[in-house]
Amino acid sequence: MTLTEELVTWRNEQKCERAVESLGKNGFTAVYCRTGEEARDYILAEAVGAESIGFGGSLSVADLGVTEKLQEMGKDLLLHSAPRLTPEERHAIRHRQLTCDLFLAGANAVTLSGCLVNIDATGNRVSSMLFGPRKVIVVAGRNKLVDGDITAAIRRIKEWAAPANARRLNFNTPCAKTGFCCDCNSPERICRITTIIDRKPRQTDLRVLVVNKEMGL
Ligand code: SF4
Repeated sequence: MTLTEELVTWRNEQKCERAVESLGKNGFTAVYCRTGEEARDYILAEAVGAESIGFGGSLSVADLGVTEKLQEMGKDLLLHSAPRLTPEERHAIRHRQLTCDLFLAGANAVTLSGCLVNIDATGNRVSSMLFGPRKVIVVAGRNKLVDGDITAAIRRIKEWAAPANARRLNFNTPCAKTGFCCDCNSPERICRITTIIDRKPRQTDLRVLVVNKEMGL
């Protein structure tokens, strides 16, 4: 590791640990993971007792390679973005995610003061984070950490994550072409539901893995 890499890792470690501490104060079970492998192992261990596992469509979770492992473990995987599904089948899977044993999702932004900020188009991801699944694990790479308030977190999402996600998911929005948000009124606008989770929801076992690695958008 070069000195630059060492210092970047150290600086990010401080940020991750600050976020973990704040999330803990806000009632979440928050875990610092030095690597993606640590996050993957945590998820696989927590999945042992779960039969049905829902996925919020997170690139960070996909990056960990847990889907294949969970399949090998014989789990009932609720993946609404699997190929060749009809719209009705997708809808039914999103419904089942709401009451699954374990729900895995990414975060669009996590403030260093310990709040989760997300913007959804459909709402199945944020709904499942709040209430329903027996356990929820949110994966947040270091690039999701925001040293600022909720406004700064929303700015991160609109300026960075949403345009890239619109492009990834082939939505016909202005930002998917230009890379910049223009607060569109497009029929395919993906920014429709903004949630701020500032304390752990009362009846949801919500855990946050803060990973010292760039993950997702
Ligand atoms: S509001 Fe529209 S243009 Fe802005 S990020 Fe969302 S989908 Fe893209």
